[in-house]
Amino acid sequence: MFHTNQRRHANVLTAIAIGCLLVMALPAIAAADRPPNFVILFADDLGYGDLGCYGHPTIRTPQLDCMAAEGMRFTQFYVAAAVCTPSRAALMTGRLPTRSGMYGDKPRVLYPDSIDGMSPDEITIAEVLKARGYATACVGKWHLGHKPPSLPTDQGFDSYFGIPYSNDMKPCPLMRNEEVIEEPAVQETLTQRYTTEAVRFVREQKDKPFFLYLAYTFPHVPLFASDRFKGTSARGLYGDTVEEIDWSVGEVLQTLRDLKLAENTLVFFTSDNGPWLIKKQDGGSAGLLRDGKGSTWEGGMREPALAWWPGRIRAGTISGELASTLDLLQTCAALAGADAPKDRPLDGYDITPVLNGSGPSPREMMYYYWGDVLMAVRKGPWKLHFITHTGYSREEPVVHDPPLLFQLEHDPSESYDVAANHPDIVAEILRTVEEHRANSKPAPSRLEGRRESLLKKKE
Ligand code: MG
Repeated sequence: MFHTNQRRHANVLTAIAIGCLLVMALPAIAAADRPPNFVILFADDLGYGDLGCYGHPTIRTPQLDCMAAEGMRFTQFYVAAAVCTPSRAALMTGRLPTRSGMYGDKPRVLYPDSIDGMSPDEITIAEVLKARGYATACVGKWHLGHKPPSLPTDQGFDSYFGIPYSNDMKPCPLMRNEEVIEEPAVQETLTQRYTTEAVRFVREQKDKPFFLYLAYTFPHVPLFASDRFKGTSARGLYGDTVEEIDWSVGEVLQTLRDLKLAENTLVFFTSDNGPWLIKKQDGGSAGLLRDGKGSTWEGGMREPALAWWPGRIRAGTISGELASTLDLLQTCAALAGADAPKDRPLDGYDITPVLNGSGPSPREMMYYYWGDVLMAVRKGPWKLHFITHTGYSREEPVVHDPPLLFQLEHDPSESYDVAANHPDIVAEILRTVEEHRANSKPAPSRLEGRRESLLKKKE
């Protein structure tokens, strides 16, 4: 009896001791077990030269400048296409648009009368993270298909609030999940309402890992700002919309700080393509880069890009490493301990070494496609153009034979063709391109299907 009680007593003590250890150990275990949150902030048609921290003289972007000061600012970061739909498909899937079929020449992007959207067989960042237990939300412009099975809620997002295609396409509806809730969308308040949704999502999901994709509608033309920002920027209405986005980014970052999530959240900010130059003062600026949206000159595809993760990314870093929206899926998957798709070719890399400063970028190449045509290719600092075309020009594209060669780190504005001086480099890039072509046969375009009635009406 005594013996049994003694043992029971000892067992109780042991249980209490283990309990205390568990309680003491819990926060550490929880922190180690909990993968990081991800927030991707995506502007529309914002140029390389449109932020204060990228040298714009009159657009004020204190929040984004602060994000750069507390994190990393990229100077050689690319999207995979110079227009919306293919660029977004590449970000979501980590694949060139030619692989997902989300490319086209005519049309270049999806329209309200498009029949198809992104295939549900594509695996998005949201799906990769959802399989790892993440809560996922898409807020803002989607533009990868406005009908099932291509809506955000079909492609790995638990919820959706935003416009399904560009804000100049009529009628531009506002949707919640699969339902249209406003048509046409009241655009003046879109950035405000996106921000409210985004902040609410972060607050609601603060206790588990989450992925927020917040794709702003602006500064895509037509430009709208709320009363609070309208008429306030020295840069005019374009500046108002960028400054409102800047405010919104600040709200998201402050929410993360307030909830003590900053040190467990990677926030990435960039834009889908370069500035829409034919809109003149309503379009942005690519700074010292040549041309803009719709062109495979640098201004069309090199973007402002900021990465923020206090404690993990060294504050005030400026990175000249090559990186791309194509890399976000692989990077998020690696950091989350999730599985990137293995049954299909991917075109991205895990750029964690760039973010944590432990090594160079694994990316050496960038391919510049227009539709399914390979227009140019970058290898290291060298860029070879086979065909050039000014964005939205009515003039025919210019074929270069022999191709043009630019050393982008010496000549970021692509002014001086040095092909004649470097035949060895041209030959080396041509060999790499041959390999690439052999492994990258384009899938059929999913953009070409349009509703027949509407096509007839236009004829
Ligand atoms: Mg765009």
